[in-house]
Amino acid sequence: MSAVCCLCKPERWHDWRWQFRHRLRTIEQLGQVIKLTPEEEAALSQPNFVVGITPYFASLMDPEDPTCPIRRQAIPLAAEGASGPGTAADPLNEEGLSPVSRIIHRYPDRVVLLGTETCHTYCRHCTRRRRVGMVEKGLTRDELEGAVEYIAGRPEIRDVLISGGDPLTLANGQLDRILAKIRAVPHVEIIRIGTRAPVTNPYRITPDLVAVLKKYHPLWINVQFNHPKEITEASARACAALVDAGIPVGNQTVLLKGINDSVDVQKRLVQELLKLRIRPYYLYQCDLAKGIDHFRTPVARGIEIIEGLRGHTSGLAVPTFVIDAPGGGGKIPVSPQYVISQSPEKVVLRTYDGKIVEYPEPQF
Ligand SMILES: *Cc1c(COP(=O)(O)O)cnc(C)c1O
Repeated sequence: MSAVCCLCKPERWHDWRWQFRHRLRTIEQLGQVIKLTPEEEAALSQPNFVVGITPYFASLMDPEDPTCPIRRQAIPLAAEGASGPGTAADPLNEEGLSPVSRIIHRYPDRVVLLGTETCHTYCRHCTRRRRVGMVEKGLTRDELEGAVEYIAGRPEIRDVLISGGDPLTLANGQLDRILAKIRAVPHVEIIRIGTRAPVTNPYRITPDLVAVLKKYHPLWINVQFNHPKEITEASARACAALVDAGIPVGNQTVLLKGINDSVDVQKRLVQELLKLRIRPYYLYQCDLAKGIDHFRTPVARGIEIIEGLRGHTSGLAVPTFVIDAPGGGGKIPVSPQYVISQSPEKVVLRTYDGKIVEYPEPQF
């Protein structure tokens, strides 16, 4: 029941460039694959909402159900025009923490390098929507030089995260150049890439790409699966190719109202991820970015989800629930409370299934 059956999966369906070039962007294009609601049509005619959806990701949409989790992540609603109290274009003060173009330096030993503003599919919940999709172009030679110079001049930087946009929209040759320059800095220990390609354009993970990536080990990849519906044969194959190349793959889920804000959905998601050898890393509380207020859930919901996972399923499947501090303080872990009381003699705790236990402190 592929929504794109009217396109009859053209010959080049499995070619990531074909997917990228044929991103669905207009009412007319999307109207051919799903039954748009009047609200979706109204939002799609807003020129300031950047829309782009690979035919592959669109094929996962339920053509009849406007609450479909794939649809809600990719097709805008009028609510994106609202700016709720406390929201900001740049809620994490990334621009303020950018010492040179395309570098964000928030923590002592690691930086983010923004490789591009382009994505295979633009997420409606994008926290960087102030710039992502606005101009579809990767970093320039000069910007790369400047960023690498910044990293090379600071021996404390041992971890570089290439993010965006989606760095895996860049061509293999350009990625190779970027990775080579970063890897040439002796104090950079690990390189990480943040990408949604395995989710939104899994055909991007080609043998040629993998051959480029594995030259730069230790290299880690973080993906963003938000719903079990995103796990398909194609996305599973893409992740397997990465893991088989020795690249540890982690997952960062954004907690999204009406999409994945239940224990049931999250439990299915994390269990499916372990089957793909992907380690759930973070569960993010939705940021205060302008235009994504309608995705926010109460913080208590995230805590409840972690509580519903811890002990109830494999410990490996339990991500850390974090709130990225408004203003730019970094990610703050928020956990259910298992410690009931603490004294010099003992700690009183509760188990995952609600039993009270005492742990005596050492008395010497
Ligand atoms: C998330 C983030 C990192 C990486 O954080 P980890 O907890 O190490 O994964 C680094 N820099 C910035 C600016 C970030 O937002």
